[in-house]
This record gives sequence, C-alpha cells and structure tokens, in this order.
Amino acid sequence: MTVMDTPERQNLRAEVRALCQKFDDEYWRRCDEERAYPDAFVEAMTGAGYLSALIPAEYGGLGLGITDAAIILEEVNRSGGHSAACHAQMYTMGALLKHGNAEQKRRYLPEIARGTLRLQAFSVTEPDAGSNTPDITTFAERTANGYRVTGHKNWTSRIEQSDLLMLLARTSPRADDPARRADGISLFLVDLREVRAHQPEALEVEPVRTMFNYATNQVRYHGMEIPADALIGTEGKGFRYVIDGWNAERILLASEAVGDGYWFIERASAYAREREVFGRPIGANQGVQFPIARAYTQVLAADLLRVRAAELFDRGEKCGAEANTAKLLASEASWQAGNVCLDTHGGNGFVDRFHVERKFRETRIYQVAPINNNMILAFLGQHVLGLPRSY
Ligand SMILES: Cc1cc2nc3c(=O)[nH]c(=O)nc-3n(C[C@H](O)[C@H](O)[C@H](O)COP(=O)(O)OP(=O)(O)OC[C@H]3O[C@@H](n4cnc5c(N)ncnc54)[C@H](O)[C@@H]3O)c2cc1C
Repeated sequence: MTVMDTPERQNLRAEVRALCQKFDDEYWRRCDEERAYPDAFVEAMTGAGYLSALIPAEYGGLGLGITDAAIILEEVNRSGGHSAACHAQMYTMGALLKHGNAEQKRRYLPEIARGTLRLQAFSVTEPDAGSNTPDITTFAERTANGYRVTGHKNWTSRIEQSDLLMLLARTSPRADDPARRADGISLFLVDLREVRAHQPEALEVEPVRTMFNYATNQVRYHGMEIPADALIGTEGKGFRYVIDGWNAERILLASEAVGDGYWFIERASAYAREREVFGRPIGANQGVQFPIARAYTQVLAADLLRVRAAELFDRGEKCGAEANTAKLLASEASWQAGNVCLDTHGGNGFVDRFHVERKFRETRIYQVAPINNNMILAFLGQHVLGLPRSY
C-alpha cells in the first residue's frame, strides 16, 4: 500500500473519477475540434473544490497536499480529459501560499476557493529567453504608486480565462556576475479585472493555435500599470519563489502524464481484446500484446516514483531527484503508451472518433512544457550527480 491508497484517498479518487465521467470522450473531442476552452468541465471541477485542493481550509480550500492534488490531476487525464485547462491554479499556488503576504492571501484565496476568481495564468517564457528564464527582459519599472510593466511573453496560457495572473518580470537589469543572474527578477500577482477595466490598451493578447487544444497566447504588456501591493514577497527575489514551486509542478505534471499513460494502456488493451483480424483478437499476437505490456511497465514505474516524490514532498523532505525523475519518466512513458495505443488501433488510431489521436497530440506536451526534459537532465546531472553545470 502506498500513500495514495489510504481510504480517504481512494474516496477522493473515486469522487474525481465520477465527476470526470460526466465529461465523456465526445465532450473533449468537440472542445478539441472547436479549440474551445472546456468551461463546463472547469466549472464542475471548481464547484467540487478540486482546483482549490491546495488552499488551506482556513481560506475555504480543501487544505490537501500534493499527493491529493496529484490524484485529482491524474484522474482528469485518466478519464480522457486534459488537465491543462485548469492545472495552473495548483502549479502556482505554492508561490502565493509560501511567499504571498497575509493581505494578499486574505483578499484572493477565499474567492479562488469559492470559484469566483480564477488564477489560471502564469506569464514567464519570453521569445528571446526561452528556457533561460534569467534572460527575460519584461521590465516592471517603479512608479509613484507601483510598477509599469513593458515586455513580450510568447506563451502565456489561459490569460483570457483567468482573473488573476502570476507575472515574472525584471525589476533591475540582469547582473553581469553569472552567480547573480537570477537576482532582480520579481513575481507579481496581477488582478486582470482591473487591467481590463481601466487600461485595456496596456494588455495585448494574441491567441496562438497549437497542435492541440491549448488556450495559449502571445502577450504584450504596453506600460501596464500595477499597484505596489501586486508584488509577491521581496522585490528581486521572484525567480527564487518560482524555483521553490518546481518540485510540486514536476510531481503534478508527472501525474497528468501517468493518467494519460493509463488511459492509453486501458484503451489499447480493450481494443486488442475486441478487434478480430485473421479470426482472432489482435491482442493474441505477441507483436500487439507485448508492446502494450512493455508500455504498462513504464507507466507503472513512473507512477510509483511519482508517488514516492509526492510522499516526500508532503513530509517536507527533499524530493528534487524523485520529482524531476518522475516527470521525465512519466512524460516518456505516456508518449510511449500513446504510440503503442495508436499502433494497436491501426488506421482507427488516426480517426478523431476513436479519441486516440487527440490524446496522442495532448500527451506530447509533457516532454516539452512547462519544463523541457533536457532541463530535467541538466538538473539531475548538476544537482544530484555533482557534474559540472552544462549551460
Ligand atoms: C502549449 C504550451 C503552453 C505553454 N504555456 C506556458 C505558460 O502558460 N506560461 C509560460 O511562461 N510558458 C509557457 N510555455 C512555454 C514553455 O514553458 C517553454 O516552451 C519552455 O520553457 C521552453 O522554452 P522554449 O520553447 O523557448 O524552448 P528553448 O529554450 O528555445 O529550447 C529549445 C530546445 O533546446 C533545448 N535546449 C535549450 N537550451 C539547452 C541547454 N542548455 N541544454 C540542453 N538543451 C537545451 C531545449 O531543451 C529544447 O529542446 C508553454 C509552452 C507550450 C508549448
């Protein structure tokens, strides 16, 4: 028995699964076809309190840990859905909980927990910086009342579906000293309702169509004014706060990939049992059966490591090696399982009404974003194995 198998967590899993079953394959296929945001699903998840899993009970959240949040996101993907529509609220919550001040928490957390405010957007990546976040140039310049933000982010997802935005911007230029390259970056919690109401021209959002249904955008900040109390924690320390959230993010992301992996295995197995060619189920052929079984071993291994990482995280212990490894293994395992599921379905794997091609496109993201697997390997090489910094 693992920490995920307690009666409470089995209950949680069953409840999330029951909710997700109301949003069937056709629902997700239609959203994908229309590139529509799955509003009804996000509303249902919010109403059930699942997106506030990490918000402490004193603010109206479920007051749960990463292990529980991992179960929730895994179940979303395992049901055939895609957590991307709503996971940011969990990914970013750590920064607000750990580094936000009492007033920010009092002002925002109860409303997020009630579902009247959405925190679904995180604006970090820039065209000229890419994976090298310290190279960002979006600048928040001090004004009499706060900051004026100017810059260009090339991947800010769900900003149009969100009321609040976590924004990473420079408040002083990058230092020449490589050891201080991440200094001078600050984290802000921006109330987008205020921006939209009073300075709509300061926020330019250009939707980007991607290979799957992902509400992502190019965003330009044209001197966007934000109040001084939008700053999270201490000015100049924002990148540190983001790094603090990385283990949680890796574990949650691994959980989504694990959910996809099991979906592929279940669909591939079911199809291989039912589909008959040459007078017998295709699953009776080793050439079909063994790839499914092998993919299963990889998903299961990634699953267990992700459970271990979540357990350590919730105990407040170091889990960088486990969380990063789980993310890498899970993203590769889900991709491998997706490939096998597609092969198993033959031509039907390419047909949208079988839903495999959609999940296949969706699961590819886990190797790339929010963190690329090369960066995971760089972390393991440098921080776990003590090798020289490679970048
Ligand atoms: C659908 C989608 C949604 C996204 N949503 C958001 C969002 O909401 N907010 C946000 O801030 N960002 C978001 N991102 C951005 C995502 O986090 C970035 O794509 C990612 O950080 C990598 O940056 P890049 O795409 O510029 O790749 P690059 O940094 O240009 O990297 C390109 C390739 O080179 C490799 N590479 C680069 N440097 C090295 C090195 N030193 N060693 C080894 N390999 C290296 C990378 O691993 C990668 O394979 C999203 C991306 C996608 C695709």
